[in-house]
Amino acid sequence: MYLSIIENDRKYIAETYNRFQVAFEKGKGSLLYDVDGKRYIDLASGVAVNIFGVGDDEWKKAVIDQLNNIQHTSNLYYSKPQTELARILCERTGMKKVFFVNTGAEANETAIKAVRKYSYNKYGEGRNAIITLENSFHGRTMGALSATGQPNYHVGFGPMLGGFVYTPANDIEKLKEAVKNNKCCAMMLEFIQGEGGLNMLTEEYIKAAAQLCKENDILFIADEVQTGNGRTGKLYAYMHYGLEPDVITTAKGLGAGLPIGATILGEKLKDVFTLGSHGSTFGGNPVCAAGAISVMNRLTDELFAEVTEKGEFIKNELKGAKGVKSVCGMGLMVGIETDAPPADVAKKAVENGVLVLTAKTKVRLLPPLNIPFDVLKEAVELLKQTIAECSQNL
Ligand SMILES: *Cc1c(COP(=O)(O)O)cnc(C)c1O
Repeated sequence: MYLSIIENDRKYIAETYNRFQVAFEKGKGSLLYDVDGKRYIDLASGVAVNIFGVGDDEWKKAVIDQLNNIQHTSNLYYSKPQTELARILCERTGMKKVFFVNTGAEANETAIKAVRKYSYNKYGEGRNAIITLENSFHGRTMGALSATGQPNYHVGFGPMLGGFVYTPANDIEKLKEAVKNNKCCAMMLEFIQGEGGLNMLTEEYIKAAAQLCKENDILFIADEVQTGNGRTGKLYAYMHYGLEPDVITTAKGLGAGLPIGATILGEKLKDVFTLGSHGSTFGGNPVCAAGAISVMNRLTDELFAEVTEKGEFIKNELKGAKGVKSVCGMGLMVGIETDAPPADVAKKAVENGVLVLTAKTKVRLLPPLNIPFDVLKEAVELLKQTIAECSQNL
């Protein structure tokens, strides 16, 4: 079974993914089963996507009900699920309007277009630089890739889209210089850099960045593709810092397993797009939107308290454990520095029946937000054993 899947993957699929040697067949909640029937506990959620795990009944019902009504209409017509989801997103963030897309990269593409258009409308040509951070990750399409401050992702795909200025995270002086030396229209950042290594921005830095934006009419784009939708213990990570972004981009967990993304626009940007100035065929697809509505309705303060508690539990368990150098993160977005290379730990963890991710120099955990405590305990115990095992073999 595995041989034919792996052989055909190698033969027919473009070789961009360094896959674990597993193919899943089914699952329920935080438990997955591979094609041989082996059980795994999921601490990865399909990279922060399956926030209510696999085969969640409530989400499935919302999706299937919509599927039974109509699967797609195009954006030439009004859509009840799409409109309802937009209303919920605006009401819960205080933002004004939403543009729906299908992925995180597209949400950021839309944000890039929106901020440039705002600046063009108000200041004319030329004020179009966007500050992003070193080690950031904003997606793989050409605009989002250009925004991504990791030169290794750019190699061979140049020229990048112009107008991006990369600055080191948590260095306020460098940020001020970047603002001074460029005609900036926006700044885009992740509060915790996910793909870039689970790097936390300091509260001081975030507040200084927001202040600089305010003073200079620079638009603040919060890339909440990974940190959003309850992941860090609040609906969106910016809510930890009492700021008001001008744009929130999100995707991943919003659809709980179906592709949907949103670019959520604040007061300054609410009218920036005009008829025909932007569009998407699939954006806000009714089935994905119906699923997302059910997701949003379950992202409650009660759940956020649970997310925070589970995150603290993971960190407390791992701090000082054998083979663990440090632990960081917020809510159910956790990074672990290990003595052994993170890729080795992740590989061994899969063998031991726990799914984890890596992010540069760290092992990264993004469990389903509703993972039951007893399942989480079992997974953390297995992970501790795995890390200890890997450090012993160094
Ligand atoms: C995953 C991610 C993206 C890209 O999302 P896709 O859906 O893969 O296009 C963008 N920004 C951040 C912060 C991400 O984690």
